[in-house]
Order: sequence, then C-alpha cells, then structure tokens
Amino acid sequence: MSESGNKSKTSSDEEAILSAGYRHFVIVISGPSGAGKSTFVHELLRVHPSELIYSVSATSRAQRAHEKDGEDYFFIDRDDFRARIEKSEFVEWAEVHGELYGTLRAQIDQSLAAGKNVLLDIDVQGGRAVRRIYPDGVFIFILPPSLARLEERLRGRGTDSEERITLRLENARREIGLSHEYDYAVVNDDWDAAARKVDAIVIAETSRATRLIRPRSEP
Ligand code: ADP
Ligand code: 5GP
Repeated sequence: MSESGNKSKTSSDEEAILSAGYRHFVIVISGPSGAGKSTFVHELLRVHPSELIYSVSATSRAQRAHEKDGEDYFFIDRDDFRARIEKSEFVEWAEVHGELYGTLRAQIDQSLAAGKNVLLDIDVQGGRAVRRIYPDGVFIFILPPSLARLEERLRGRGTDSEERITLRLENARREIGLSHEYDYAVVNDDWDAAARKVDAIVIAETSRATRLIRPRSEP
C-alpha cells in the first residue's frame, strides 16, 4: 500500500466490511404440488441449520398425519384466518387448491432480524407478492420431470384424496406455465443431482458481493 496519512482509517474501513456481514434475504421455493418442494426445504434446513430458518405459514387445510402444528404449518380455521387478514398479520395470503394459505409477517421479520435467511414454500401468487416486498430475494421453481411422474409422486405420497389429486394436477399445468417468472428452475428428477443444484444456488446467492453490508463512509 502506498504511504498515506489515512492508512489506519482505510484499514479500519476494511475491518468494518469484514465484520459487518451480509444482508439476509428470503429464499422462495415454488412449484406444483408433488414436485418435491417440502423435500428440498427439509434438506436445506438439514444442511444449513445455522443459516436458514423456515417460515411457517398458516393454513385452513386439514393437518396431515405426519405434520406437526407450528412446525409444518399453523393449522387454523377459516374464521381465525379471516381475522388475521383483518389484523394485517400476513405479508401475503392466497387461496390454493381451495384452501387458504398465508405467510405471517412476524415469521419473516423476526428471522431476518435474527440474522437468518428465510426459506418459504409458497405458491406462485405468493411468490409474486413476496418479490414485490423483498426484491433481493431468491426465487427457485421446482419442476417435475413430467406430468406422469408428478402424478405418481402425488399418489405415492398418499396424503390426498382422488378428488384433491385431480385438482392439484389441473393446477400444476397452470403453475408450470409461470415458471419463467422465477430466477432459477430446477428439474427434480434424480434426487441427489437436484439437491446439489438447489444447494449450489443457495450457496452462490449467499456469497453475492452485493449483499455485503458496506459501512457508511465518512465524507
Ligand atoms: P411438494 O412439497 O412439492 O408437494 P413433496 O416434497 O411432498 O412435494 O414430494 C412429493 C413426493 O415425491 C414425496 O413422497 C417425496 O418423497 C417424493 N419425491 C421428492 N423428490 C423425489 C425424487 N427426486 N424422486 C422420487 N420421489 C421424490
Ligand atoms: P400443501 O397443501 O401441499 O402443503 O401446499 C399447497 C400449496 O400451497 C403449495 O403450492 C404451497 O407452496 C402453497 N403454500 C403453502 N404455504 C403458503 C403461503 O403461506 N402462501 C401461499 N401463497 N402459498 C402457500
């Protein structure tokens, strides 16, 4: 470094950059029902337990056998859901496959403030709304290898009635048509390969130089 009178000031600016960390952000995972979104969410939380936190949505849909209230969703009735809309508790909410789902403002704000990136598993309508509020977020769309394989997975999961599977498959076509709105599209064919891709996206996005917090420079 050339000699200069403000050498120590420059060095403390650099120290400040190194210690300031980065701005935390939201990671939205969308895709048709059965594409594998919740499987990716569990894998990302397993691999990055100290950096990522899951935004638990509220829903009016019935709890599935393996699901835990407060972990997978907050299961509430429609009246409670409507009351929370009135109280502006949701960042966004939508009717999906005939049920109400909503992202709770507190889930995102508290997690970002605690220095975590926040993982959301929400539909395309929710993804659009979240992008308007958090434009520096990362938006990942999970695609099934084919509609036939999607149907197999929905049936294999064994959580939905025949009527619900039909509705979810109809909606899948519409959602796949909107995948171009996302930053990344990952085909979930071979699980290991797809999981590596999603992990690589999260690692790369966490390392973006634009996310580094710049200390305010003195005049
Ligand atoms: P979503 O959350 O998108 O509705 P899930 O994560 O519940 O989808 O996945 C649907 C079903 O497909 C689950 O039974 C899951 O174990 C299975 N699955 C997920 N990824 C794969 C894959 N790559 N190959 C085969 N089955 C998969
Ligand atoms: P499932 O009933 O299979 O858990 O979810 C059905 C759909 O609702 C999925 O596409 C999921 O991403 C979406 N979803 C879950 N939570 C929310 C939410 O808070 N907001 C929105 N808009 N969609 C959600």
